[in-house]
Amino acid sequence: MSNQIRARRYLVNIDSTATNQLFTDCLVIGAGIAGLRTAIAASENCNVIIVCKTKLQESNTWNAQGGIASVLNKTDSFESHIADTLKTGCGLSDPTVVETVIKQGPELVEQLLNWGTDFDISENNEIAVTLEGGHAQSRVAHAHGDKTGQVIAQALIKKITQNPKIKIIENFYALDLLTNDHNECIGAIGQCKNSPQIIWAQNTILATGGAGRLYRETTNPEGATGDGIAMAYRAGAVLQDLELMQFHPTTLYIAGASRALITEALRGEGAKLVDAKGKRFMDEYHPDAELAPRDIVSRAILKQMLKTNTTHVYLDIRDFDKKHFAKRFPRINELCESFDIDTSKDLIPVRPSAHYMMGGVKTDLFAKTSIENLYAAGEVASTGLHGANRLASNSLLEGLVFGKIAGQLASQNLTNRIKHPNISYRIPASSKTRLDTEDVTNSLRSLMWRNVGITRKNQPLKEATEIIDFWQRYVMDKTFDSTHSWQCQNMLTVCSLMAQAARKRRESRGVHYRSDYPQKDDKNFLKHITISK
Ligand SMILES: Cc1cc2nc3c(=O)[nH]c(=O)nc-3n(C[C@H](O)[C@H](O)[C@H](O)COP(=O)(O)OP(=O)(O)OC[C@H]3O[C@@H](n4cnc5c(N)ncnc54)[C@H](O)[C@@H]3O)c2cc1C
Repeated sequence: MSNQIRARRYLVNIDSTATNQLFTDCLVIGAGIAGLRTAIAASENCNVIIVCKTKLQESNTWNAQGGIASVLNKTDSFESHIADTLKTGCGLSDPTVVETVIKQGPELVEQLLNWGTDFDISENNEIAVTLEGGHAQSRVAHAHGDKTGQVIAQALIKKITQNPKIKIIENFYALDLLTNDHNECIGAIGQCKNSPQIIWAQNTILATGGAGRLYRETTNPEGATGDGIAMAYRAGAVLQDLELMQFHPTTLYIAGASRALITEALRGEGAKLVDAKGKRFMDEYHPDAELAPRDIVSRAILKQMLKTNTTHVYLDIRDFDKKHFAKRFPRINELCESFDIDTSKDLIPVRPSAHYMMGGVKTDLFAKTSIENLYAAGEVASTGLHGANRLASNSLLEGLVFGKIAGQLASQNLTNRIKHPNISYRIPASSKTRLDTEDVTNSLRSLMWRNVGITRKNQPLKEATEIIDFWQRYVMDKTFDSTHSWQCQNMLTVCSLMAQAARKRRESRGVHYRSDYPQKDDKNFLKHITISK
């Protein structure tokens, strides 16, 4: 990693005395399920400001399709959900965290229902649940078919907009966490309506979501650029398991179109994977065939693509009842129709894409990070729930549970002793050549896909760190005034850390597959890989 990035504490010059200032008890950065739930919990005890990069409706949460996993059915049990989560996590899940999250699930999902989330209801008048890969039982609750994330977010957004103790600021690009001389977090600085803005806070909760946009092929919306991880790194927080990026096996593959997700639930309800020759192949790779864990399905698809010399495989749902499909999966139905794919006759072209970041800011059972007064919840955090692989539909649940925990604790631990010192930070002018950050961003995303993708190996990982290091030397030494360039700086930071972590884990475990170390190595790597500045 270049010296610039290690030395750099803030992305921009700061003179706090000359900057707009706001004060709050709790500052929540991010408005997906984790941030929204945090704000609601914190508002029970104090005043809250919640900020998001663009609009409240733009988040990974809004795009979540399949549903939220929880023990909601009499035939299901906590033990079964815990066992499935631990098994999928391949030894890296923290059993206490797993138990905590899973046991709090039913009550919090029920609460979502009471707050207006229009979950799909079964014939027995209970929340309907479906089966997804890796789950031994049907336990994935969904809403409006495959619009689960949107429907949950709408209910939570309604709740925060009606709450006078929560101030919402949209189009606030958080640049950095502010810390004092004791390395306590005292708020954040961001850009809002073209001006810098400081928000001083007694406690700050990072809920900035995932980092799928670090890859050329991804299911994630534009905002998922790993800003929270980069901010936390600059502030000195401990990060964990950054090598663990989950790739979703089935995203629509049409050149030029965005990689829209084709939910796992479709395979849960009987969709088959076939190759370019129309041959079903998953049973050659795993006894659970299409319902094998995501990493196995993703790698099997890649192998099958190589075997058949094609860029994608297909999902076959030609035998589905068309009416049921349109009702159960309205989003995918609309998507297919928009490309003139008649699912009763045509196959759906798919391939894997970067989907979910398991690594992130290390947190404990109380959502606390290694920095005093800084909490993290949701995809930005590495809580220990998912281990080396995330069980489908466990992430909305994680955001919900840890959002509540973070909001409750942060709002109960207001010390009123944080002073707001004047912060003055100046970055020396750079004499080095300027690179086009848009071009660097695109090249970086391609590099990550090629060298830090589904299958990894030492030499390409080393090459990735060297190339990123080169870009950093010309990008990290400058100050910018556009979101795009700041994002590029954050992406270079996180990608470099990911490639380093992937090099360090010289084994294959969960989503992390090293072709030069194809076996799991419990002796040396049954542990987390942590990084801090
Ligand atoms: C297509 C898709 C389908 C999925 N389906 C499922 C599913 O069925 N079940 C499931 O459990 N999980 C699913 N996931 C994963 C799940 O949606 C996410 O893990 C979860 O929603 C993350 O929630 P979050 O609150 O942590 O972050 P997000 O929902 O991503 O919210 C992040 C928030 O942070 C804000 N933010 C980011 N950077 C900044 C910044 N610099 N300044 C200010 N604000 C910032 C954003 O504006 C946003 O408001 C899916 C993900 C995708 C992409």
